[in-house]
Amino acid sequence: MTSILNADLHCHSVVSDGTLTPEEIAQRASANGVELWALTDHDEIGGQARAAAAAKACGMRYLTGVEISVTFLHQTVHIVGLGFDAENAALVAGLQQTRGGRRERALDMAKDLERVGIHGAFEGALQYASNPNLISRTHFARHLVETGVCKETSEVFRKYLTEGKPGYVEHRWATLKDAVTWITGAGGMAIVAHPARYKFTANEEFALFTEFKGHGGQGVEVVTGSHTAAEYVSYAAVAQDYGLAASRGSDFHSPLESHTELGTLPYLSGTLTPVWELLAARIQ
Ligand code: AMP
Ligand code: MN
Ligand code: MN
Ligand code: MN
Repeated sequence: MTSILNADLHCHSVVSDGTLTPEEIAQRASANGVELWALTDHDEIGGQARAAAAAKACGMRYLTGVEISVTFLHQTVHIVGLGFDAENAALVAGLQQTRGGRRERALDMAKDLERVGIHGAFEGALQYASNPNLISRTHFARHLVETGVCKETSEVFRKYLTEGKPGYVEHRWATLKDAVTWITGAGGMAIVAHPARYKFTANEEFALFTEFKGHGGQGVEVVTGSHTAAEYVSYAAVAQDYGLAASRGSDFHSPLESHTELGTLPYLSGTLTPVWELLAARIQ
């Protein structure tokens, strides 16, 4: 398969913090011309069977997917896994462990928001979380918009819920080694998600990619919804420098909130090795 493929290998459904069901995303992706799709909910693979069936019904090829939350050098890094066996016991247990602290963290976030006069945020956020185990900052953001505290979710993340702002609670997610090992141990490929979004120094970013490769990671997102055109170029160079395959995915969450629509990003450059070339045997 060439790099000229409408692959969308990063998006979220109601199983984590998206607003559409796996079936609705499949239809929307297919209508936008997506040929190869993966649903990558945060720390949860409960939507995979539905997504694979919906992809088939829409005539799209499918790769199993997940986006695992990792703590690396005091920052949250996201590792996308593609093409794994969704029934692998170590992966299933690892994801369950990763989800474990979300409720307590959310209670602490709500407590911190009380400090600035925002009451009842836990109960409010919970109403948006179809999967309460996956209660996330996105659900708090939707609640704060709905109750008029902010105009849009991006404003919430500027004023609240991020480091130094009310409602931010530091959290320890999985280790980089564990996340990569769970994915590769289940026969999949580990991919560094939206690398331009992290606030690492050059040395720290070198450590991230070096350790990631050392643990068996093989890919990096180059063309993704949260990268600028300049970042497509700089992370294409990173892919080549580190010998990583390149991925493409919108990170779509919601028709109202997401600035990047499913299947509408530029193609990967032909000079890169697309992740789907290495995952050919895992495509359903
Ligand atoms: P959590 O896993 O609870 O820390 O929530 C992380 C999620 O919040 C991400 O997956 C995004 O969906 C959302 N998010 C984080 N930062 C922003 C931002 N600046 N603007 C909009 N959404 C964001
Ligand atoms: Mn999200
Ligand atoms: Mn992410
Ligand atoms: Mn994502």
